[in-house]
Amino acid sequence: MYHQPVLKNRRTLLERAEKFISDIYFTDCNLRGRLYGESCPVEKLESFLSPKRIPFSEACKQDFSPYKVGETFGPTWSTCWFRVSLNTPPSWSSEEVHLLWESDGEAMVWRDGQPVQGLTKEGEKTSYILSESLQDDEPHSLVLYVEVACNGLFGAGQGSMIAAPDPKRMFSVQRAELIIFNRHVQELLTDFEMMLDIVKELGEQDQRGFQALFTVNEMVNLCDPSDRSSFPRARSLASAFFSQRNGQSQHTVHAMGHCHIDSAWLWPYEETIRKCGRSWVTVVRLMEKNPNFVFACSQAQQFQWVKSWYPVLYSQIQHFVNKGQFIPVGGTWVEMDGNLPSGESMVRQFLEGQRFFNQEFGIHCKEFWLPDTFGYSAQLPQIMQGSGISNFLTQKLSWNLVNTFPHNTFFWEGLDGSQVLTHFPPGNSYEMKGKVEDLTKTVKNNKDKGRANHSAVLFGFGDGGGGPTQLMLDRLQRVQDTDGLPRVRMSTPDALFSELRSNSQLLCTWSGELFLELHNGTYTTQAQIKRGNRQCETLLHDVEVSSCLALCRDQSFKYPAEKLRELWRLLLLNQFHDVIPGSCIELVVEDALRYYEDIRDSGSQLLKTALSSLGSGGVCPAVFNSLSWERHEVVQIHNETGRPQLALVQVPSVGLSPVKPTEPLTPVSVTVQSDGTVLMENGILKSVVNKDGTLASCVWSRPAGSFIFINVIMKVCFGAVDVSCAVSRESLLDGCKGNQFVLFDDVPLYWDAWDVMDYHLQTRKPVVEVVQPVHVVSSDPLRATLSFSLRISKRSCITQNIIMDAMCPYLRFSTQVEWQESHKFLKVEFPVRVHSPNATYEIQFGHLQRPTHRNTSWDWARFEVWGHKWADLSEHNFGVALLNDCKYGYSVHKNTMTLSLLRAPKAPDAHADMGSHQFTYAIMPHSGLESSVIQFAYNLNFPLRLVQTSPQTPPWSAFSVSDPAVVLETIKQAEDQSGTMVVRLYESHGSSVTAALCTSLPVKEAWHCDLLERKDPSRPAQITTQGISLQFTPFQIVSLLLVL
Ligand SMILES: [Zn+2]
Repeated sequence: MYHQPVLKNRRTLLERAEKFISDIYFTDCNLRGRLYGESCPVEKLESFLSPKRIPFSEACKQDFSPYKVGETFGPTWSTCWFRVSLNTPPSWSSEEVHLLWESDGEAMVWRDGQPVQGLTKEGEKTSYILSESLQDDEPHSLVLYVEVACNGLFGAGQGSMIAAPDPKRMFSVQRAELIIFNRHVQELLTDFEMMLDIVKELGEQDQRGFQALFTVNEMVNLCDPSDRSSFPRARSLASAFFSQRNGQSQHTVHAMGHCHIDSAWLWPYEETIRKCGRSWVTVVRLMEKNPNFVFACSQAQQFQWVKSWYPVLYSQIQHFVNKGQFIPVGGTWVEMDGNLPSGESMVRQFLEGQRFFNQEFGIHCKEFWLPDTFGYSAQLPQIMQGSGISNFLTQKLSWNLVNTFPHNTFFWEGLDGSQVLTHFPPGNSYEMKGKVEDLTKTVKNNKDKGRANHSAVLFGFGDGGGGPTQLMLDRLQRVQDTDGLPRVRMSTPDALFSELRSNSQLLCTWSGELFLELHNGTYTTQAQIKRGNRQCETLLHDVEVSSCLALCRDQSFKYPAEKLRELWRLLLLNQFHDVIPGSCIELVVEDALRYYEDIRDSGSQLLKTALSSLGSGGVCPAVFNSLSWERHEVVQIHNETGRPQLALVQVPSVGLSPVKPTEPLTPVSVTVQSDGTVLMENGILKSVVNKDGTLASCVWSRPAGSFIFINVIMKVCFGAVDVSCAVSRESLLDGCKGNQFVLFDDVPLYWDAWDVMDYHLQTRKPVVEVVQPVHVVSSDPLRATLSFSLRISKRSCITQNIIMDAMCPYLRFSTQVEWQESHKFLKVEFPVRVHSPNATYEIQFGHLQRPTHRNTSWDWARFEVWGHKWADLSEHNFGVALLNDCKYGYSVHKNTMTLSLLRAPKAPDAHADMGSHQFTYAIMPHSGLESSVIQFAYNLNFPLRLVQTSPQTPPWSAFSVSDPAVVLETIKQAEDQSGTMVVRLYESHGSSVTAALCTSLPVKEAWHCDLLERKDPSRPAQITTQGISLQFTPFQIVSLLLVL
């Protein structure tokens, strides 16, 4: 029988119970005050400061000197090692004894040369358990080491979390002592906390809340903190309440431990290795005590780091992977950005990730796990399915600034129609704490009530690591089936998705990209990282293609498989979702740029070796084309005297040709007009450049009559259009200037490097101050170059070369910017004479449309969008495309096409983007044929490579594709199969086609395979004299194994 309250007053009962477990009030007499018993200081505390991160084996040999609690050490990013000598008093027999360690920074306890426990005040871990019940025969004297990293879970930002790190921050240890821990007090405290949270969460509308209120009040009545024999009665009241069960229809929460560790963000890559060590060793300790505890862990790269830095811990992890508790998830090398990596990069994320998990653990991940990136490409469902994955978990769209995403559990349909079952944990978090509110929020927020009766709750400190705690497990354990709360099941991703799939008739479908309406600045921030990514993707492509061909043409050539894997893994690492978006600190930028340099250095060397094998060591200049169409381009070579010289060359698809200069149909002409403007013409384009470098006019023309020669390029340009009559058309909007640089104020609300807000558009200022007006730099029948300079501000300027090549349908803008701005955004605009409600943007293995108007909130929320090598605005039979060689941010509003160039945020990198920049973009009017834009955007990004060959070498081609809609994207050696090649093609127009892949290589067999290069034995590809015939649906990716 409960005691009857004197007042019918919810508040007094509630607050009474709160004070009973308060860590602030009444700790002299309440239950919280009894959590710890006696304590004693450690016997000896010594320290050694290391500026570098060093292994234990090195640290333990250093000279340690005495340390007094409270003394400071540092600064930021250094490491303080402590040697802690302990002597437990014999009178503590049978007690649970902890080393209580409260310090700044993140700590790791080492015992007998091995890491045993992570300790982080921010992550609510301040105890290392020395003994659960001290026995006389246990060692009472012990020496431990504690490695304290001088950075917090979230780095060392000064003032705000995302501020640039304070390099001078100092750290200290506040408590280091032995202490008796009263486990029975902790258990009762957890009961009280859960009961109280139920009272508060269920509120006054729910009778269950009142039942909890009276129960918790009676628990206070029964419990005398100074008499542990009174505890069981209070505990049994709580237990009786927790075990009152739900009806059968209750929602089920699948609880999974998780620890989101950003592979680099507010701390450098090297610190992430230790974050993994600290977080995962703690997980292993929890697993030893809690056999039901399940932990989902992503990112193969982090496993690889732990494997090489903490081999003993890694073997313990392997043990728990085998037991099904420690679950590798995601299937990717890192949790990459979902927008910017190329299609092939995304494939490699899965290839490297899935192969790693398979080799190390015999596991194939069935779900893609990407809770924290800034939008998700419409091509991901197909790439997932091609990598053996049909489930997807994220939650980031809950951050949308404008529109609320309508589903939590749904089918996501990609660009090609592939579908994956997708779940956004309705609690909108990947770092819950197992609290009652996490459970109620999950049920309340679920936007698929009645459609999906299962949800995920991911618990554990995250972003900077930390992970789950015993307290979180204890909380969840109490309310597994408690009337009024959802059912809680310790579960796995697999079990969750199986439940969702088994009852999916009512689920809705979302088609197309998952666009995050926030963080749109990440398409532009840290321009050097973006450039490094694009250039290295291109370089590794060319290394793979040329190495495959060299292998076929030169018996002594060895395919650099190991080196390529190493370089790919570096590139994939930099695609992590805080690195390639540019949302990281300066130390990370330095690391990332160094990795790109490594890839460029080694990649260029590999390319040189492969190309010299292909050229068989002659002395005549030749060019190599790694793309799957014939190209006719102006290149710069060196003539016999070693002087640079231009040549118009023709080179077959995926092939090589000696340089045999041809005459252009129309030479490039340049005329300086009386008003100072400059007219440039090449028979396709006729442009007038104003003195300030803007375009006054850009007329595209399709010449009349017959051609002297029609090469493939011209066929591609003009396609099946009747070329008998001349058509010319102005590309630019009346009275407007193209190539107009514009500067905006760029001050977001908080997330500086991440966000560009809608209101920045109201601050547009054209860059008009001319330093050097336009002038002719060179004028050759094959290439004309103009140049001009503009001042952006006192400290920033632009110098640009406008380049027109013979036979080239685009005008190229090679741009240098000296950039020293603060919170400004530089873009370039082209107002074009095209009217269309939608603009088209290249994405991974395809393209998609986004609106050019602002009808609805979903339209206006996309005021800044991402794309890859091109964006296009087209009417029927005419359009203008904007190409680029390293940019990703665009906006097309009404008729104005804008390319985003540079930003100047100050956090978390105070020097983001300051300095010199080089990039190229191009404007390309066209007759509305997507194929020409797609191919020329590739051409702009994949330069023809110069080779030396012998004069007798005839032009040769290794591969060609019969239909211009199909792009042969990738040619590589199959993983672990030296006699087999993988080729990957995709349909790029959005059409259903049959195409023939022709090859001059001695292919014996061809098989369809998936993106993991697993042969489909039911699908041999027929090789005929016309080539390998292949069927494509819109934007379909097809991979083949070619056995040589
Ligand atoms: Zn993250």
